[in-house]
Amino acid sequence: MTDLVLVTGVSGFIASHVAARLLGEGYAVRGTVRNKDKGQKIVDALAAAGSDTSKLELVEADLSADAGWKLAVQDCRFVQHIASPFPLEAPSDREALVPAARAGAMRVIEQAIGAGAERVIMTSSMVSMMGQAGRGKHMIVKEEDWSDPDWKPLTAYPVSKTRAERAVWDYVESQNVKSRLTTVCPGLVFGPDTYDNGGASLAIIKGLFTGAFPMVPRIAYPIVDVRDCASIHIKAMTAPNVGGRRLIAGANTLWISDIADILRKAYPQAKLPTRVMPDLLVKIAGVFDSSIKSIVPDVGTFHEADAAYVSSLTGVIPRPAKDAVLAAAKSLIENRKIDLA
Ligand code: NDP
Repeated sequence: MTDLVLVTGVSGFIASHVAARLLGEGYAVRGTVRNKDKGQKIVDALAAAGSDTSKLELVEADLSADAGWKLAVQDCRFVQHIASPFPLEAPSDREALVPAARAGAMRVIEQAIGAGAERVIMTSSMVSMMGQAGRGKHMIVKEEDWSDPDWKPLTAYPVSKTRAERAVWDYVESQNVKSRLTTVCPGLVFGPDTYDNGGASLAIIKGLFTGAFPMVPRIAYPIVDVRDCASIHIKAMTAPNVGGRRLIAGANTLWISDIADILRKAYPQAKLPTRVMPDLLVKIAGVFDSSIKSIVPDVGTFHEADAAYVSSLTGVIPRPAKDAVLAAAKSLIENRKIDLA
């Protein structure tokens, strides 16, 4: 019998790449969406890009409600819990995303463990690791690092990711089933927008081309290509010794100004920002602009991922960040999200 994998939020950027890989490897996939009619778009996009969607079924379930989750996990050998609110603009209430992220993750993990899923892979984020006071100019982010969700400068998205990841670890420990959970903590995820759904993830690349950032802030995060991020999710299902681990998904780190330079060389006709925004100005702008407020705690720090253990455990060696940046830009141009004319 074909192994069935639940992919939550299958319409999303990372989840659709994971689903395509699973289908390509012969798994059957059950994807959750909030609305089946809207969800059909991702089935069509996967089919158009060459996936055999005959083994893909959609079910409706919202992280904010119990309905649907019990049936969703039924008969699944593995669960890829990837859905979580990832808005382009952070709400001002720093706890606003927690109900969907944390209670939603708890709904998924409780049902999945109860139904006998062999392993649950949950997409967390490096934001659940980096958010600590006193990072200095260079932070090497390690598996054991945890953000402090009560640290006031943290905004709604990192607070939600940290509280959700903490809650699922607490749960599996309390049930003595820690080895049945693996979390994946990606840095910035770029790479090809194959299914035309790169939204929040590719907003930085798009914004550099469209003039959304006339000056670039001094922020630097590890970057991972969505294809490598998907590979880590899939290897995490069956690789030995990854149960109970937090897998950082990140290649090398780039400053946003490095990203602009890479794009400028590849697309000399584009108007890409050349000026760097003074840190003080970022901090002042953050008082008035919620999208800038979210990066204020990170300004001036070079965040580097200590992720060699992930390659040893999974065999995935992420491609260089530059390739992920260029692949994202190429596909955004092909999908007419960026107009170079
Ligand atoms: P997307 O916005 O493309 O995907 C998010 C998915 O979550 C969508 O399918 C969305 O469904 C679903 N979702 C959101 N809220 C709910 C809800 N209340 N109930 C059910 N489903 C919901 O984001 P990404 O693919 O980029 O991100 C996927 C995961 O990876 C997230 O957990 C994110 O935090 C994490 N991550 C992403 C990074 C990145 O750079 N992209 C970096 C680190 C972590 P719908 O289509 O209905 O809105």
